[in-house]
Amino acid sequence: MSEKKFISIAIDGPSGVGKSTIAKLLSKELGYVYIDTGAMFRTLAVYFNEHGIDAADEKAITEAIDSISIDIKYIDGVQHMFANGTDVTDRLRTEAVSQIASITSQYGPVRAKLLDMQRALAKKENVIMDGRDIGTVVLPDAQLKIFLTASSAVRAKRRYDQLLETGKLGGASFEDILKDQEERDYRDSHREIAPLKAAEDAVTIDTSDMSIDEVKAAIIDELGNFAL
Ligand code: C5P
Repeated sequence: MSEKKFISIAIDGPSGVGKSTIAKLLSKELGYVYIDTGAMFRTLAVYFNEHGIDAADEKAITEAIDSISIDIKYIDGVQHMFANGTDVTDRLRTEAVSQIASITSQYGPVRAKLLDMQRALAKKENVIMDGRDIGTVVLPDAQLKIFLTASSAVRAKRRYDQLLETGKLGGASFEDILKDQEERDYRDSHREIAPLKAAEDAVTIDTSDMSIDEVKAAIIDELGNFAL
């Protein structure tokens, strides 16, 4: 019997562009599983951070990754991340973890470890997967590829508001958030392996002046074009 083919929707774009918000909404509407690949890089980052492994030390990072087992579980529809059996979901969203994830995601062995997991997940069910390289590297055969963009200032403001709302700002100013984001954008789009970029067959949507509902509607429109 041939393997059942599932539908994959890839959503890529820079930090703070709203990928996860949109992907979560769409996954509910379509009944697909949402896979946040950034959370996987962040899970490794939490481990490096808590074990005092310097993100800049590629050799130490490479040596450490074999001793980390990562699991994803869906609890009440929410993606939980486990590192060596411990649920680290609540520790993923700090600025320190963002920076460590961005630095260590440049290293080949880190990306290779997660790539297999990401592909295996998309083989099991219909998925909406978001990240930086989903349309280009992880799922080049995805039926629909969306690349979300927005100006740097708009994205930093969204992130700032989100951190403020969730009480996770930790004294950071808007300028701090903007600077961190620009550093991450630069690294993510200039790294050698799987840099952030739109796949040739991706539909690019500039969300700077769009509401979440408008972005969602635009993507559903594209889905219609693909007659899924
Ligand atoms: O999307 P999020 O901000 O959670 O991702 C954290 C970091 O993980 C990014 O800055 C990026 O360096 C890395 N990442 C990646 N490839 C992906 C998803 C995330 O390199 N597919």
